[in-house]
Amino acid sequence: MPNGIVLDAARCTGCGICVRTCPEMVFVPGDGPRAPVSVAHSERCLGCLACDEDCPEGALRVHRLPSDMTVADVPQPGVGLDDRVHDLVIVGAGPAGLGAAIAGRALGMDVAVVERMPSMRRAHHPDGGLLMGQPGDVTQELRGLHLPELDLTVPRDRIRETLRYAFLMGPDGRTTRSAGPGVAMAAVDKDVFVQGMAERALDAGARIAWNTRAQGVERDLGDGPVRVRIDGDRCVAGKVAICAEGVTGRLAQAAGAPVNAAVVGWSFGAMFEHGPLDAPRHEMGFALGAPAGFPEGVGALSYWSSGTARTEFMSGTVQRTRHRAGDVRVTDLVRMAAGEARFASRIGDFGASAATPDGCRILARRLPQSAVADRVIAPGDALTCCGMLTSVTAARTGALAARVAAAAIARGDVSAAGLRDFDRRVFAMAQVKGMKFLHNLLIEAPMALGRADLDALMGILAPLDLGRMMGGGPGALWALAAFMLRSGRAMAGRRDLMRFLKA
Ligand SMILES: Cc1cc2nc3c(=O)[nH]c(=O)nc-3n(C[C@H](O)[C@H](O)[C@H](O)COP(=O)(O)OP(=O)(O)OC[C@H]3O[C@@H](n4cnc5c(N)ncnc54)[C@H](O)[C@@H]3O)c2cc1C
Repeated sequence: MPNGIVLDAARCTGCGICVRTCPEMVFVPGDGPRAPVSVAHSERCLGCLACDEDCPEGALRVHRLPSDMTVADVPQPGVGLDDRVHDLVIVGAGPAGLGAAIAGRALGMDVAVVERMPSMRRAHHPDGGLLMGQPGDVTQELRGLHLPELDLTVPRDRIRETLRYAFLMGPDGRTTRSAGPGVAMAAVDKDVFVQGMAERALDAGARIAWNTRAQGVERDLGDGPVRVRIDGDRCVAGKVAICAEGVTGRLAQAAGAPVNAAVVGWSFGAMFEHGPLDAPRHEMGFALGAPAGFPEGVGALSYWSSGTARTEFMSGTVQRTRHRAGDVRVTDLVRMAAGEARFASRIGDFGASAATPDGCRILARRLPQSAVADRVIAPGDALTCCGMLTSVTAARTGALAARVAAAAIARGDVSAAGLRDFDRRVFAMAQVKGMKFLHNLLIEAPMALGRADLDALMGILAPLDLGRMMGGGPGALWALAAFMLRSGRAMAGRRDLMRFLKA
């Protein structure tokens, strides 16, 4: 997919942050101390948005374009918004922001959404697209996936395929066990899912402004509205701001919701895909352990899936610094990783995959204590550990944010104390709590442990039936009990590793 890089050379001070940050070395420094950088390899751009997010002068924009759109087609910021004070002003038209918009409209609220992407047809990072329903959802392969709280149905024809096995894999290729097919995971491209939600929100009467980047959240000391400052020095006002901006949590944090109280590191990743294998495995998995060639002291996290429609492989660094680790392109690292025997046997040959892959940078943080501030709520990935809350759960936390905001507006108390019900309910959600486990295992462990210890960790995890665990309900409880019985002795022998296995 194309990415349009727009550099405002008049604003660029030549500080070189983009040169050091870009995981594909797209930029080169200018000739001289304050000379603007130049875009030397736009064709390599992964659309990870790290340069766009980090440029202190706001001199860079990266437009993740759908295949039939060019930079010339990108709309002006703020189109369709006016000066009124909305009930909800929502930053981000991802699953959480759109979940808030749909639920807000269902409650009769006036809702405005600002989204930095140029259109609803391409989301801001790649995503495995696996929608994991929960008990209570109607998940039937023939009927699609129905999410009752949002009254949202993903029709059958938007479900690409269904995967049934889920694994964790260690550095030597050893995987967790599978006693049979686990929960059915419907694979729906995230772009398709988000577009369906955006259409639903628009039909319900929400306003959405594309190519509209929120720069900050402003509040008066008194009872005035909260204002989201957007590009072009305009503001969009609301009684409550929902910062559904995804994993960076930047606006929420700056507005006083302490979501980034414990930042742990960053991850740069790239996703490659090719067609299905001759004998698709119907599986997905996460792998620990840095492949040979990764920069010294940098961990790795990889994801693969093999289905009847597509084979995907995503890998990337897990690192302490927000800039690129070393001078190796992340796509080269991922190609190296894909060639490792432990992956090649599961996903086939990615060597021929010539197209520029999609990419992202993720912030890793420990689960915060609170995701609210005066007149501000931060749902979705903005409050979780490592940007993988999952699309369905993110949508649910967005809907919860809208309901809590509606009740607080009705009571006339939109202070942090008045919005605290969001914290009470969101941090009690099993999927949000489950993020602690994923974070410790997938982020903290690869950063802290060498190959031998990661291997030992996999030894402890080997009896876990991840596919059953992910299904929730009695099956998951049974799988957990069986795991504890089988791994109890191994756990007792390696107490030093237990902190990585805690939920
Ligand atoms: C590599 C990867 C693979 C994944 N695979 C899966 C999977 O298979 N299944 C699954 O369910 N989940 C998966 N996830 C997780 C899932 O994508 C997220 O949990 C989910 O998208 C979170 O939704 P959100 O709305 O909170 O955030 P996001 O989807 O990140 O949306 C945030 C939105 O806010 C916008 N935004 C950010 N800053 C601004 C700003 N300043 N102004 C205006 N707009 C802004 C962004 O452009 C974006 O559209 C994956 C995540 C990653 C990173």
